[in-house]
Amino acid sequence: RYARINMLAPGVTWGQVQRHLQETGHIFWRPSLKEKREAARRSAGLKPPDGKKIYYRDVHLPELLVFRPMGQSYTEDVEMFDEGALVFQQKASAFPAIALDPPRGAQVIDACAAPGSKTSQMAAMMCNEGQIFAFDRDGRRLKTMMTLMQQRHVTCVEPAEKDFLKISFKDAKYRNVTHFLLDPSCSSSGMTAQPLTKPAEMQQLAKNQKEVILHAMRFPSCQRIAYSTCSVHEQENEEVVQDVPQQKPSLDFSRHPLFAGAERCVRSSWEDQTIGFFCALFVKNEILILSSS
Ligand code: SAM
Repeated sequence: RYARINMLAPGVTWGQVQRHLQETGHIFWRPSLKEKREAARRSAGLKPPDGKKIYYRDVHLPELLVFRPMGQSYTEDVEMFDEGALVFQQKASAFPAIALDPPRGAQVIDACAAPGSKTSQMAAMMCNEGQIFAFDRDGRRLKTMMTLMQQRHVTCVEPAEKDFLKISFKDAKYRNVTHFLLDPSCSSSGMTAQPLTKPAEMQQLAKNQKEVILHAMRFPSCQRIAYSTCSVHEQENEEVVQDVPQQKPSLDFSRHPLFAGAERCVRSSWEDQTIGFFCALFVKNEILILSSS
């Protein structure tokens, strides 16, 4: 079980979180440098000693605290979750925002945003500076998201109940949007005990997934796109990111399929102590002009 320290919450510091956790019976485990080095090479990360009260910082994403799984951990009683100072977030689900890396003041579209775990993560990365246009076509989920944004002290988000595919890339409002986070509906096959998705449904999902990426690429200032799913199926992952540039060969986007240099695609599974997840980053090609002088 992972939790992110939400630096947007008033007065939150690492020391304050640590004190609060100690008061609620948690014990911070500090691995040795050797343990950390070895763990960084293993995708499964650190191996803490036994004891359900133990928590530690994730070796790959030190901004995440790692607790025992749900039901075995003390975290359920920690008030800091109600106050929005600590936010539960799966390790893999933190990858897209980290890959996208929106700077302070960025203009961002989160196209499939609800319930907003990645939206609030980006807002924290941007220190609430800039703007995140957060769309979702499901009104109920969007409502939940709005409550969560308030609880997490997020102020730079403009939520809208809209289908991202119907948002015009010509609209002046989005003229300066450079960063796009695309986390569309998927089969959720990377989560536990999901029923098998029927082939026709899978085709429909893949179609929407590709359309969402293609649509983002049409926005005039688009520079970076993080695409993700919690699916383990190639049809929703590698096949989607492989297909997109072929459908729009004139677009000047580099792609990093699994086949030749997959450095911008990430897959995770339960073996990595997180869910089955896929994340790919598209970066608009920059033309470098080299001068000999
Ligand atoms: N990004 C969210 C988060 O981190 O909490 C989770 C998103 S969930 C996997 C997928 C969401 O995409 C659903 O809420 C669904 O309603 C929305 N969605 C799918 N296609 C969409 C589209 N074309 N436009 C807007 N929302 C869409």
